[in-house]
Amino acid sequence: MNKKNLVVIGNGMAGARVVEEILKRTPEMFQITMFGAEPYGNYNRILLSNVLNGTDKATDIFMNPLSWYEEKGIKLHAGVKVIKIDREKKTVIGVPLTRNDCPYSSSNPSPANRQTVVEPYDDVIIATGSRPFVPPIEGFGGPGTFLFRTLDDCARIADYAANCQKAVVIGGGLLGLEAARGLLTHGVLVTVIEAAPHLMPVQLDDEGGRLLKSTMEAMGITVYCQQIVKGIEKKNGKISHLVFHDGTTLPTDMVVVSTGIRPIVEIANEAGLAVGRGIMTNDQMRTNDENIFAVGECVEHRGQLYGLVEPIWEQARTLADVITGMNPQAAYTGSKMATKLKVMGVELVSMGEKDPAGEKDEVVTYREPNRGVYQKLIIRGDRLVGTILLGQVQAYDHLLQVLKDGNSVSPDRTELLFGQQESKSLTDVLQMPDGLQICNCNGVTKGEIRKAIRKENCTSVLKVGLCTKAGQGCGSCKNVIFQLIRAYADDLSSDPKEHYYVPGVPLEKSRLIAAIKAKNLKSVSTVFQELAGGKEDAVSKVGLASLLRSTWNEEYKDERDARFINDRVHANIQRDGTFSVVPRIYGGVTSADELIRIGTVAKKYNVPMVKITGGQRIDLLGVKKEDLPHIWRDLGIPSGHAYTKAVRTVKSCVGTDFCRYGLGDSIRLAQEIERAFQGIESPHKIKMAAAGCPRNCSEAYVKDVGVVAIEGGKWEIYIGGAAGGTVRKGDLLATVETHEEVLKLVGRFIQYYREHAKYMERTYGFAERIGIDRLKAILIEDEMGICKRLDQEIQKAASTYVDPWKKEAELPAYPHQFEGPELVQVLQEAVNNG
Ligand SMILES: Cc1cc2nc3c(=O)[nH]c(=O)nc-3n(C[C@H](O)[C@H](O)[C@H](O)COP(=O)(O)OP(=O)(O)OC[C@H]3O[C@@H](n4cnc5c(N)ncnc54)[C@H](O)[C@@H]3O)c2cc1C
Ligand code: SF4
Repeated sequence: MNKKNLVVIGNGMAGARVVEEILKRTPEMFQITMFGAEPYGNYNRILLSNVLNGTDKATDIFMNPLSWYEEKGIKLHAGVKVIKIDREKKTVIGVPLTRNDCPYSSSNPSPANRQTVVEPYDDVIIATGSRPFVPPIEGFGGPGTFLFRTLDDCARIADYAANCQKAVVIGGGLLGLEAARGLLTHGVLVTVIEAAPHLMPVQLDDEGGRLLKSTMEAMGITVYCQQIVKGIEKKNGKISHLVFHDGTTLPTDMVVVSTGIRPIVEIANEAGLAVGRGIMTNDQMRTNDENIFAVGECVEHRGQLYGLVEPIWEQARTLADVITGMNPQAAYTGSKMATKLKVMGVELVSMGEKDPAGEKDEVVTYREPNRGVYQKLIIRGDRLVGTILLGQVQAYDHLLQVLKDGNSVSPDRTELLFGQQESKSLTDVLQMPDGLQICNCNGVTKGEIRKAIRKENCTSVLKVGLCTKAGQGCGSCKNVIFQLIRAYADDLSSDPKEHYYVPGVPLEKSRLIAAIKAKNLKSVSTVFQELAGGKEDAVSKVGLASLLRSTWNEEYKDERDARFINDRVHANIQRDGTFSVVPRIYGGVTSADELIRIGTVAKKYNVPMVKITGGQRIDLLGVKKEDLPHIWRDLGIPSGHAYTKAVRTVKSCVGTDFCRYGLGDSIRLAQEIERAFQGIESPHKIKMAAAGCPRNCSEAYVKDVGVVAIEGGKWEIYIGGAAGGTVRKGDLLATVETHEEVLKLVGRFIQYYREHAKYMERTYGFAERIGIDRLKAILIEDEMGICKRLDQEIQKAASTYVDPWKKEAELPAYPHQFEGPELVQVLQEAVNNG
């Protein structure tokens, strides 16, 4: 069969998607040629913000790498810009771009000394997308001024920010805020300028916009609304400040403009196609030339332009049906859309209309100012026509569905906001039609997810994502994917861990704690009794015990079978079934007497190895279980807790006592921290350090909590650092002046981590999951009003701490507890529990 020549102009989200859809229907019908002005395969543009803020690497966001085109037999002209469609000769003409050409520039590079590319066509699809719109700003252009649209833009912004102290983003819309958040991670002071009276004027009402401003400011971003930039001034060739229309100025080193987009329509214009604000198409995505179609952001359909991906998926499906002849009557009739802000630490969704159209519209609002929660529904007749969810977006999935279905809503409005969101019931997800789009970022339908679960055996959200791309955009559909897995997977063995705190009790952590408190459950067995239908799960016991100890402190009712062997005998089990003993040496500073005692004990009990640990303590390795109580009694030193999931040790450097560089007394501070929080139970081990200056000899930057002395007698507190299998520099939580302030904030962070981290989640994962800006807002600005309680709780935990050996050495839990080794099962247990 002679293949028809199909030329696709634009290799972005729409161009690549429509090709995927065509290949799904008829892999053999077309010889496909694609032109892309960017020198890459196809990438997920909506994840550019993640690249800018460092969450993703550029390579993480490619959807179709160059090899994909080869495999599918597609001829790709990457880095070639189309300048003309010759409708008479039925050819498409492109010119290669150089590194300095901008792919979305409105002026075409001269083909004079470049080899043009000419491709014949039977059909053409235009998918040229949009270019950023720049309002008249004198001085825009050249070094230090940027737009935010492509991977190259991201790289240029990041490179330039590395040598800047201040950055301004002009435009407080969705992309402007994402750019601002991204810039913050490059260590610059960021200001956002918005011409409208509030942020995100297209999606938010006045109240929502004002609240969002406070949230952004709590993150450290300065926001000026109702300010119009007139010009950018330079000094010695570098940007020095902005000038506003009212004559005031603002110093800055760089400027990113994000003030809207405009469809790229030149080639359509030049070819004489009908163009309004975008390239005009009918419901079959056909232009006024029978053989030329258009799809994506460059399109004007029924008078509407779209600037989000969701319509693209629908348009691409329709166009593929039409062009392959699968369903020539397929029709795209427009999209109802939701906008979700992808700024770490801000929960915001806006769908449909933001303000009532008249007095008859019913407006339902719910506010919790202290938590930054604002929710608004606009109901017309008995239909939902608009929603704003800020600060709390659990109702998103359900409300989006209600808005799209257009069905009448319950007269009980609270049910709309709070009723269904808890978790979609199985009946809900079972009843969803197969064609319903679940992942809007990647255009994945329920049918595709169901197939991945049933046929590809994807029983976790991650596996579904790898198989279908669902859930790999903004992540807001993960809950529904999880419910679909529950509904369609036969074997769910690996799933509960993803959401439950422990697999044996079907509740995620905050709900589990709430239930434990409400039902006054103080032992592991009562938790199983009350919350898991009486079914005990051995794997869950240790995690539950840890949670209960953190929740109730001394009121916790210990059950020894809920303890891991290390916690049963208060020592670290070793490969050969012996144990290691680590006496506590506060801050790593010991004395001659203490050393002699440790040495004497080691000799008396024939300890095979005495080792200095990486954490500045002394490890007595190879201790027989039956010797443990005697060793501890002879040592008379508290346990260094080298085993349990708890606050461990605080390493220190020489600090001011002897070091020539010391700026702060790191030894004293390390000892104070270690004494204050020793042994406190936590979701995972917490290792700390204090350094006397930024030379960081005690490696404080890579500890769960690190404190570093800086000039001016101040201390910087870092959290979430790691230097094990994962290496991560901690995030700066705060800079404070006194040891007391250090102790207070460290305690507050530890308590918040104890309450909100998953079992076995280290602080580095936790800090990344919550986001340092959110943590600052909660722990420093007290956005949730919980700091006082956190301070009290950690104090309570500290005051109820008892050195286990003081108790155990005198009183074994049962008569022969320390006599003879436990069996191989103990070692197995050790392996299972990490
Ligand atoms: C930073 C950022 C974040 C975003 N976040 C979201 C989000 O969270 N949710 C959401 O729904 N949407 C988001 N969007 C919008 C979304 O990315 C766009 O709606 C989508 O990319 C549009 O797809 P498209 O294919 O029409 O255009 P594009 O993806 O821009 O692709 C068009 C391609 O055509 C190429 N091209 C243009 N002219 C020519 C020519 N003459 N010859 C050859 N090639 C040409 C361009 O170089 C480009 O690669 C975001 C956009 C950006 C920039
Ligand atoms: S971190 Fe600074 S103060 Fe501490 S030992 Fe090293 S150089 Fe000295």
